[in-house]
Amino acid sequence: MILILKKGISNCEMENLKEEIAAKGFTPHVSKGDELTIIGLVGDTIAFQDRFNLSDERIDRIVRIQEPYKKVNKMFKSCDTVVDVAGRKIGDGNFAVIAGPCSVETRDQMVDTAMGVKKAGADLLRGGAFKPRTSPYSFQGLGEGGIELLLEAKKETGLPIVTEIMSVRQLDEHASEIDMIQIGARNMQNFELLKEVGSLDKPVLLKRGMSASIKDFLMAAEYIAAGGNEKIVLCERGIRTFENATRNTLDISAIPVLKRKTHLPVIVDPSHSGGYWWLVEPLALASIAAGADGLMIEVHNSPKEALCDGEQSLKPERFENLMQSIRNMEAFRRGGFSA
Ligand code: PEP
Ligand code: MN
Repeated sequence: MILILKKGISNCEMENLKEEIAAKGFTPHVSKGDELTIIGLVGDTIAFQDRFNLSDERIDRIVRIQEPYKKVNKMFKSCDTVVDVAGRKIGDGNFAVIAGPCSVETRDQMVDTAMGVKKAGADLLRGGAFKPRTSPYSFQGLGEGGIELLLEAKKETGLPIVTEIMSVRQLDEHASEIDMIQIGARNMQNFELLKEVGSLDKPVLLKRGMSASIKDFLMAAEYIAAGGNEKIVLCERGIRTFENATRNTLDISAIPVLKRKTHLPVIVDPSHSGGYWWLVEPLALASIAAGADGLMIEVHNSPKEALCDGEQSLKPERFENLMQSIRNMEAFRRGGFSA
């Protein structure tokens, strides 16, 4: 439920109202926009409505949120969320590019690639230490050693690091070392993991499950927000369809749909969506045109030697060219499309 407050409400009136709400057993989530100030409430709000004086002159309107996702609902906040990852901002007009190899393999591979993406202008560095592979016989990632190499690459480049965490145990051991926790497509509905991540004060990159509806995706984000962590960035990474010419099908409409339904930033991973390096540029540019707040792109210093996802990885030089197109497209979008 949200309370839309009367224009011009004083700070003192607002504080009193918050205290009254808290006394009724709810946590008030205040958000102030240019036009409106709203207070969002989660819980048994039907009882709240009964107990509240609807003629209260501080309140303009009371609106019930119909959707099952409340805290991540666009109605719950008067402006879009900006997630700050160690000083790099994502959302509400702040565009960010996350780049790096699918998996951390060696010191040279990680540091070389990190230097390449830094030179090209990436904002954050990615690299998988724990890899969710379909086959148990495929390379599973370097684990703890991979986190150490990522930290070394961070030291060399100054780029904050994003890496996938697959279990509560890995979270306990490594959350404090990394700047942004990635929850991969396969774990999007690992509710225990989502609850744990929700209890941390740490940015989260939540990837869409490969067969998840937009509602499933937003409910997964709600799990994290419900625990108190609202530093969530959503990532569309392609979904399973009948089409097998591409690895997955980029659901381009998910971008404007999500941005209509939630205040959270939405980024796109064109690498896992298409599955081929030559699809990365068109999918990346289409995503910007559709309103994405950022991109996650796989880059490898020698894709043909990659232990994972080499066929969809860009060489650093190609990535550098792509960054130029990304900047142009983003500037074009910011300037507004003219007919
Ligand atoms: C990844 O980004 O490394 C990854 C495994 O992606 P996804 O979870 O989207 O498959
Ligand atoms: Mn990959």
